[in-house]
Amino acid sequence: MSEVLNVEELFASNVFTLGKMKERLPKNVYKEVKKIMEQGGELSLAAADVVAKAMKDWAVEKGATHYTHWFQPLTGITAEKHDSFVTHPDETGKMLMEFSGKELIKGEPDASSFPSGGLRSTFEARGYTAWDMTSPAFIKEAATGPILCIPTAFCSYTGEALDKKTPLLRSMEAVSEQAVRIVRLFGNTEATKVTASVGGEQEYFLVDQKKALQREDLIFAGRTLFGAPAPKGQEMEDHYFGVIRERIGAYMNDLNKELWKLGVTAKTQHNEVAPAQHELAPIYETANIAVDHNQIIMETMKRVAGKHGMRCLLHEKPFAGVNGSGKHNNWSLTTDNGINLLDPGETPNENIQFLLVLACIMKAIDIHADLLRQSASNVGNDHRLGANEAPPAIISMFLGEQLEDVVRQLVETGVAATSIEGGKLETGVSTLPDFEKDATDRNRTSPFAFTGNKFEFRMVGSSDSLASPNTILNAIVAEAFCEAADRLEKAEDFDMAVHDLIKEYMTKHQRIIFNGDGYSDAWVEKAAKRGLPNIKSMVEAVDTLTTEKAIRLFERFGIFTEAELASRAEVLYETYAKTINIEALTMIDMASKQIIPAVVGYTRTLADTVLAVKEAGADASVQTELLTNVSSRLKETKEALVKLIEVEKTASAMDDARAQAYFYKDTVKEAMAALRKPADELEMLVDRKAWPFPTYADLIFEV
Ligand code: ADP
Ligand code: MG
Repeated sequence: MSEVLNVEELFASNVFTLGKMKERLPKNVYKEVKKIMEQGGELSLAAADVVAKAMKDWAVEKGATHYTHWFQPLTGITAEKHDSFVTHPDETGKMLMEFSGKELIKGEPDASSFPSGGLRSTFEARGYTAWDMTSPAFIKEAATGPILCIPTAFCSYTGEALDKKTPLLRSMEAVSEQAVRIVRLFGNTEATKVTASVGGEQEYFLVDQKKALQREDLIFAGRTLFGAPAPKGQEMEDHYFGVIRERIGAYMNDLNKELWKLGVTAKTQHNEVAPAQHELAPIYETANIAVDHNQIIMETMKRVAGKHGMRCLLHEKPFAGVNGSGKHNNWSLTTDNGINLLDPGETPNENIQFLLVLACIMKAIDIHADLLRQSASNVGNDHRLGANEAPPAIISMFLGEQLEDVVRQLVETGVAATSIEGGKLETGVSTLPDFEKDATDRNRTSPFAFTGNKFEFRMVGSSDSLASPNTILNAIVAEAFCEAADRLEKAEDFDMAVHDLIKEYMTKHQRIIFNGDGYSDAWVEKAAKRGLPNIKSMVEAVDTLTTEKAIRLFERFGIFTEAELASRAEVLYETYAKTINIEALTMIDMASKQIIPAVVGYTRTLADTVLAVKEAGADASVQTELLTNVSSRLKETKEALVKLIEVEKTASAMDDARAQAYFYKDTVKEAMAALRKPADELEMLVDRKAWPFPTYADLIFEV
C-alpha cells in the first residue's frame, strides 16, 4: 500500500498565507494588511516591521536562512538575489537573525544588467523592488537551502516599470475601475472591485537528461536545431491522453507535491499530442497570482525534472515535425460580490449585462487585435503560430454556435426600441440559452474562444510569462468598458441606449468573429478581405506597441508611458537578435565540430570499403553510390556553414536594434534552415553509430 498523502496539510505549507498572518500577527496589524490586500494602499513602516518579523520567524522555523525579493524582469523569467538574515554580531559575538519592515517592502538590487531598453543607463544602476502584498511570500526549497521569496514589482529610480508585474497590476486596477462602472449601470451597488481571473494551462516536454546533455542545441537553445524526423511521430495519436509511463508518472507525482506545498493548485495532468509532451493545469485565480504561480510552475517543472534525471523543455518548438508547446490563458472578470461578467446569467437583466460585456470585448479585440497578437509573441512562438498546430497568427474570436446566433440576431434586427416585456427582449432573445461549455462544440483552431464563462486565449507560448497577455486583455477591455460607460451613464433612456450600443458594437466589430477552421488557407484569405491583421512574426509585432493607438490606450489608463513602451520595443528587438544569434552560433559549432567531422570519418570508412571491395573483385556500386551521396551533401553542408558564418558576422556587427532583428529574421534564419537541410539528410544516410549525438528517436521515444 502506498503511503497516504495528506494533501490538505501539505497544501501551502511553504506559503505565508493570510491564515498564517492571522495566527502570527497582532489583530490590528493583520487588519491593516488585509485591508491593503483588498483595497490597495501602503503598509506603514511600523506594521511592516511587525509583518517582517513574523514572516522571518516563520521562515526560520522552516529552515530558511535567506530571503529574496523575487521579481520578473523583461527577460520573461524570474530573478532573485539572496540576502541572509544574518546581522552584525554584538560585542559578545552573538548574532541575531533579523529582517526589517524596510527590507520586506522595498529592495534595491544593483540591477544594471537587466534589460531596460534604454530606460536606465548602467551608471544609474539603481532599481527598486517593492512587495506585491496581494501575492503571498513563499519558501522555495532549493539546493541553496530554503529561501524566503517575496513577490515584488521592479521599477527604476524614476518609477518606470522594468518588469512584467508592474504593468499587469496597473492593468488590473484599470479594468476593475471601468468594470465597476458597467455593473453599476445594471444596478449593482455592492461591487467595489472587479478581479481578472486567470487559469494557465502549461505544456512541456520531458527528455532524458544524459541524452539532452549530449546535444549543444538543447543545452544552449532549449530546442533542437538539427534532427531528422523519427520513423514515428504523432500520427498514431496514441500519446494524447494516453497512459502515463512510470518514469513520467513519478515525475508528475513529485511535481504536484512540490507545487501544492507552494500553494499552487495543480489540478489536471495528462499526456499531450506529441510524444514526450505533457500538460499541467492549475485552478484559476487572481491574475497576478496566477502569473506568479505560472512562473513557479515553470521553475518547479525544471527543478523536479533534474531530480528525476530528466530535462524539462519549455521551448515552444523543441522538435521539428511534431507539435510544439503552448500555454492556454483562460481569462474572466468577477466582481467582489461574486458575479462573473462573462457568465451569461439566468435573468434577462444579467443577459443584457453579459451582451454588453461581450460587445465591449468584441470591440476591444477587433480594435487591438494587433496588440493581443503581440502579447503572445516570442522567439519560439514564431515556429508555432500559423503552423497548423497552434492558432493562426490572425486574431479572431470564437463564440460557439448558440452565441454566434444571438449576435447575428442582434445585428440583423433593426428595431431600436427595446423593452423587457414578460422576460423577453424585442431583439428576440428571451433569456439566453445555457452556455455550459460543450466539449464537442469547441473550436481548437481559434486563438480566442468563448468557453462558457471565460475566454481562452490560446496563442501564448509555453515558455512565455502570462503577464503580457493579461496586461493587454485587461487594458483593451478597460478601454471599451470606459467608452461604453461614458455613453451609457449619460443616457436618458438606459434600456434604449444599451440596446443601441450593443447592436452598434456588434455590427461594427462582427468581422472579428470566426467560427470556422482557423488552420485553413481559406481563412487567411477571408481574414485579409475582412481587413484583420495577419502579423507573421515576433519582430513584425513589435511595432504594434508604439502606434498612436497603443500609446493613447496605455497612457490613458496609466499602464505604460510612451517611454516605457519604446523601451519594451527595444528590449524585444534585442531579445530576438540575441536568441537567434545563440541559435546560429550553436549550429555553427555543432556543424563544424560534430557533424562535419563525423561525416568525414564516415566517408573515409566508405572509401576504404569501396577500395577493399573492388580489390576483392566484387561489385562496389552500392558503396560507391552511398559515398557519392554522402559526399555531395557534406559539400552542401560545408557551403551552408560558410554562408551562415558570414551572415552571423554581419548580423552581430549591426547596431540598430530594429534593423538587426529584421536581418536575423530574414537572413540569418534562412541561412540556418539552409544548413539544417543537408545535415538532416546526412543523418538519414550515415551509420547510426557514427552520428555524433542522440537522434529524435532517442530523445522523444526513449524517455
Ligand atoms: P480545457 O478543456 O481547456 O483543458 P478546463 O476546464 O480544464 O479546460 O479549464 C482550463 C483552465 O481554465 C483551468 O485552469 C481552469 O481553472 C480555468 N478556468 C475555469 N473557469 C475559469 C474562469 N471563470 N476564469 C478563468 N479561468 C477559468
Ligand atoms: Mg485549454
